Amino acid sequence: MQVILTFDYELFFGTYTGSVQKCMIEPTDRLLAIARKFDIPLVFFVDIGFLIKLQEYKQHFPELEEDYNSIRNQFAEIAASNSEVQLHIHPHWEKSHYDGEKWVVVTDGCYKLSDFPDEEAEAIVRKYYQYLTNFTGKKPTTYRGGGWCIQPFSQIEKVLQELGIEKDSTVFPGGKFESEHYQFDFTAVSRFENPYRFQSDVTKAEPNGYFLEIPIASWEFSPLFYWRLYVLGRLNPSAHKMIGDGSFLAQPGRKKSVLLHKTWNHVSSDGYYASQLTKQANYYSDKKVKTFVVIGHPKGMTHYSLKQLEKFISRTKSLYEFVNFDSCSL
Ligand SMILES: [Zn+2]
Repeated sequence: MQVILTFDYELFFGTYTGSVQKCMIEPTDRLLAIARKFDIPLVFFVDIGFLIKLQEYKQHFPELEEDYNSIRNQFAEIAASNSEVQLHIHPHWEKSHYDGEKWVVVTDGCYKLSDFPDEEAEAIVRKYYQYLTNFTGKKPTTYRGGGWCIQPFSQIEKVLQELGIEKDSTVFPGGKFESEHYQFDFTAVSRFENPYRFQSDVTKAEPNGYFLEIPIASWEFSPLFYWRLYVLGRLNPSAHKMIGDGSFLAQPGRKKSVLLHKTWNHVSSDGYYASQLTKQANYYSDKKVKTFVVIGHPKGMTHYSLKQLEKFISRTKSLYEFVNFDSCSL
């Protein structure tokens, strides 16, 4: 089985975005140290809309220059450690700005690409792709929709194909959520799904499709898991506090629902979720699944999760092959 450890490299999109240092630079430094220690590659899905805004606003607000340069230097380290940078789009940056003190994030009516007219959505994809390519000097090959919002895929099918983005890793089988901001439904994709080709609908396999979906692994979490998560956070806040210093965009009703019912969620290396990785990977391997894609966020790392991630890699490195999207064989 091939294991792909992915991290969405971004600020928070709630009331407080948090700082570049705490949400991106510091936890990513720790992740890169782990990658070097075990000689494995990581994948960073970079929220490129933010970088574009950062470059734009640093002309007027010199304090942003340092953030921009830190990110630039970190990208050089990512490249040097054999890890890769891929395309991640949060289009709400189109409507957001810096007010001289903080980022004012506007997400209403613009959180996902499908909130934009088709032509505008295509132009955003093209612009973000171009910027990322110029920034890293390397063409991305893999896409992940911001907040798992990638439907209807037909809206961006043509432009992604034209740009040669052949792979996607947004889907987590069984996942479904709908709110004012979010909208995704992956219930049509079966559990323990192997990578599959598709064309216009990201949940429908088409053997001759241009695109290859490499789904994020998913897992059915019991309410007990979430009760433990909340209790541990209270008992040992320093180990379980996120390194990122911002606040999440709300997912109304979700917190209550996970404490009451079994819920499908992605396999994650964030916070307490990281404690489940070895068990989850072994389960996937028993089911003969070819790839085990884990999603995490530098901003969502805790001291505990970094330790758990290290444990997971050291326990399973001889069993599984740790790869990235450009080096995986499918
Ligand atoms: Zn994201």
